[in-house]
Amino acid sequence: MEVRRHIEVSGIVQGVGFRPYVYRLATERDLTGTITNTPMGVTIEVQGPRESVEDFVSRLPREAPTLARITDVAVREMPCNGDTEFRIIASQRGTAVRTLISPDVATCDDCLHELLDPADRRYRYPFINCTNCGPRFTIVRDIPYDRPRTSMAGFPMCPACQAEYDDPLNRRFHAQPNACWDCGPQLELWDKDGRRITDCNPITASVDAVMAGLVVAVKGLGGFHLAADATNSAAVTLLRERKRRVEKPFAIMVPDVRTAEDFCELRAAERAALLSIQRPIILLRRKSSAPIADEVAPFNRYLGVFLPYTPLQHLLFCEAKLKALVMTSGNLSEEPIAIDNDEARSRLHGLADYFLVHNREILLRCDDSVVRALESTAFNRKGREGGAKDAEKIQQLRRSRGFVPVPVFLREQISSILAVGGELKNTICLTKGKHAFLSQHIGDLENLEGYGFFGEAVEHLQKILEIRGEVIAYDLHPDYFSTKWALRQSGSQLVGVQHHHAHIASCMAENHLEGSVIGFALDGTGYGTDGNIWGGEALVVSYKDFERAAHFEYIAMPGGAAAIREPCRMAVSYLAHHFGRDFLQMKLPFAAALGPKVELLLQMLDRRVNSPLTSSCGRLFDAVAALVGIRHEVNYEAQAAIELEMAIGDFPDPASYPLELVRDQDQWIIGTRPLFEVLIRDLVSGTHPGLISARFHNGLIEVLGRVATLLRERTGLNRVCLSGGTFNNLYLAQHLQAQLAENGFEVFSQREVPCGDGGLSLGQAMIAAHNIAGHSPFAQGNPPAA
Ligand SMILES: [Zn+2]
Ligand SMILES: [Zn+2]
Ligand SMILES: [Zn+2]
Repeated sequence: MEVRRHIEVSGIVQGVGFRPYVYRLATERDLTGTITNTPMGVTIEVQGPRESVEDFVSRLPREAPTLARITDVAVREMPCNGDTEFRIIASQRGTAVRTLISPDVATCDDCLHELLDPADRRYRYPFINCTNCGPRFTIVRDIPYDRPRTSMAGFPMCPACQAEYDDPLNRRFHAQPNACWDCGPQLELWDKDGRRITDCNPITASVDAVMAGLVVAVKGLGGFHLAADATNSAAVTLLRERKRRVEKPFAIMVPDVRTAEDFCELRAAERAALLSIQRPIILLRRKSSAPIADEVAPFNRYLGVFLPYTPLQHLLFCEAKLKALVMTSGNLSEEPIAIDNDEARSRLHGLADYFLVHNREILLRCDDSVVRALESTAFNRKGREGGAKDAEKIQQLRRSRGFVPVPVFLREQISSILAVGGELKNTICLTKGKHAFLSQHIGDLENLEGYGFFGEAVEHLQKILEIRGEVIAYDLHPDYFSTKWALRQSGSQLVGVQHHHAHIASCMAENHLEGSVIGFALDGTGYGTDGNIWGGEALVVSYKDFERAAHFEYIAMPGGAAAIREPCRMAVSYLAHHFGRDFLQMKLPFAAALGPKVELLLQMLDRRVNSPLTSSCGRLFDAVAALVGIRHEVNYEAQAAIELEMAIGDFPDPASYPLELVRDQDQWIIGTRPLFEVLIRDLVSGTHPGLISARFHNGLIEVLGRVATLLRERTGLNRVCLSGGTFNNLYLAQHLQAQLAENGFEVFSQREVPCGDGGLSLGQAMIAAHNIAGHSPFAQGNPPAA
C-alpha cells in the first residue's frame, strides 16, 4: 500500500548538499515526491510503499551530509497523489532566508583527492571546494546565502563549473563558492613591500622562503596567518620580535595526524578533534623528542596543533619539505587579525618577508578556534541532539572559525537580545527563539583596531542572522569599551549584568539548567557590585538574580593594572597583609630579587595609593607563582597561573595547604593566612616548586569543597556550576569536579562555550532575558558608581 508523508526538517540544511542527498535517498528507493528549501529549512514530500517510506524517514537524519545539523524533523501523513518521479523544486525568492548559515569547513577528502590528482581539472587549484567543504561564514556579505551575496560575486562560473552547480546529483550542486582555474580566484606572491612577483610559482617560492627562515604572510579563510618554520629557532625568534609577542605560545600546523603523533601524545578524542571538519587548534601534550623549537611555546608542556584546512595550506605541505609551520594570526600582538589585502600590506609591513595572497575577499574576520579534548566522563551533561558524541569531548577555549555561526541551542525560547560581552577575549551574543548565536572571537577591546572589529561584528552579525537586539546586555564595568558602546545605544532597553553572574549563567545555559544553582566563578578580574574587583566568588545563582555567598578575602593590588602584569606585587601584598613587615625577615628569595622595589610597594600599600581591592583567584595564583620563583612578571594574560599549573607536572602530591572560612554576616570569607604560613615553611625548607604548586591547588579544591557543602546545607541546592577563566586550569577543574561529585554534587562545567570571558556574552543574554521587565536590582540603565 502506498503512503505519502510530509516532512519538515530544520537546522543547517541549506548549502550543505542536503537536497541532492535527499534526492538520492528517495530515488534509490523508487520513491516519488518533492523537496524544497523553506525559510526554516527544507520541506520534503515523499510517497511510495509504506516500508520504503519508513526506511527513508528513519535514515534521513542518520545519514545526513557531514555539514548538516538537523535540529528538528516533523513528520505527518498526507494523501497520496499522482507523482511519477522525485523532484527538487527551486526555492521561492526570498524564502531561503531564515535558515542557519554554515560555518567555514575544512577541505573534504573528495576535494583533497582531486587537488592532488594530476588528471583532475582542478589539480593543485588552491580554491577547490564543494557542498561538503570550503568557505561559508567568512564570505557572506548578506542573506540569503547565494553567490551574488558572497565575495564570489565577482567570479562568474565557467560552463564546466556552472554545469556542476546546476546538477542535483553533483557534489557541487549549489556550492556557492564553486570555482576552478578558468573562472575562480587566483594566487599571487608579493614581496615585503607588497609588489607582485610574477616570475615564480607562488606556492613553491613561499615554501622556499619559509625553509630559508623567513616569515610569509598567508591569506587564509578568516584572515592572514604569519607562517614560519616551527623547527627553526631563529625563524621563530624573528617572528616573535617582529610581532612583539613575548613567550605567549604559538600554534603549529602539521601536514597530517602522523606528524602530530610524532610530536605529541595523541589520545582518541584528540585525534578525532584534529581531523574534525572544524579543524581547530588542539592543545596536545608535547613529547620531549619533538623537533619543535623551544621558542614556539616556552615553559609549556602543551603545544597547540592543527591540520591544514584550506587547499592552499595543503599545497604548502604537499611538497613534503615542511614538517611544521608556526601559523599565528597576522597581526601585532592582541590586535585583530588582518583580512584585506591592502590592510595586510600596511598592517603587516615589516612583519612579513613575503605575502601569499589571493583575490577572493574575506568579508568577516574569523580567528582559528582553540579547543582541548577531554577523555574524562566526569563531566556531567544533559542529553543533546544526536550525533554529538565526539563534540561532547571537545572543550572550547576560543570558539571561532569552524564553529561560528552554529548557535548554542537553548532549552527555552528567549527574546531577541544583543549581549556585548566583556573587555578581553570579547565575543557578542545574539539570541532568537531557542538559538543563541555567539560571534567569532573578537578579542581584546583595548586598542583602536579592536573597537573597529567590534563594531563590524555587531553590524554584520545582526544583518546576516536577521536579529535586531531589542534589549542590550552589558557588563557593569564602567570602563569596558563594550559597556560604553552599549550605553551609547539609544532606543534599546539596557540591562547591566554583573560579570560573575554572567559566567555562571553561561554555564547554566549551555547545560540547559533552570532554577537555582551554586556557582563558583573564578577568574582574574570582574567588576563587583560593591565597586571592588571580584574574581574568587561562590554565588547562589538563578538567571534572574544572584547572591554573593562566599568569596576570597579582599587584598590590595598595589599599582592596579601593574599588579596584573607583575605577579610579584601580589606576593608582596599578600605577605604584607598577613605578616606586616615581618615577612622581610623571612629571607624569601623572591623578596631579595625585588630589592628596593619591595619598600616602594609597601609604602604604596600603607598609604592605599592606587591599590584597589580584589577577591580575584587569578591574583592569588599570581602571588604564589611569584613566591615560588616561577614568574615575577607576565608577558601575556594568565601566564603565571598557567606556568604554576604546568609546574605540578611530575610532582603530584596528595597534601594540601589549609585555607580558613570566616563568617562575615551573611557571607563566608575564604582566608589565605594559614596557606601562606605553611607555604613559606615549605619554601624555606627548599621544597620543590612542583610540590608547592600541587599542595596549593589541592588546598583550593579542598576549601571550595567545604564551601559547596556549607551552601548545600543552607540552601538545599545540589547542583554546582563552574565557570570563569581560572577553570582553564585542567588540574583545578578536574580535581574539583571529582571531589564535588564524590560528595554527591551534580557538577556542570563549560564545553561548548569557553569558561573564560569568551563565554560571558551568552550568560549576559540569558540574564537580560529574565530581567527585561526591569524589576531586578541589576536591570538598571547604569552601572553603580565606582
Ligand atoms: Zn569538498
Ligand atoms: Zn570554472
Ligand atoms: Zn571573567
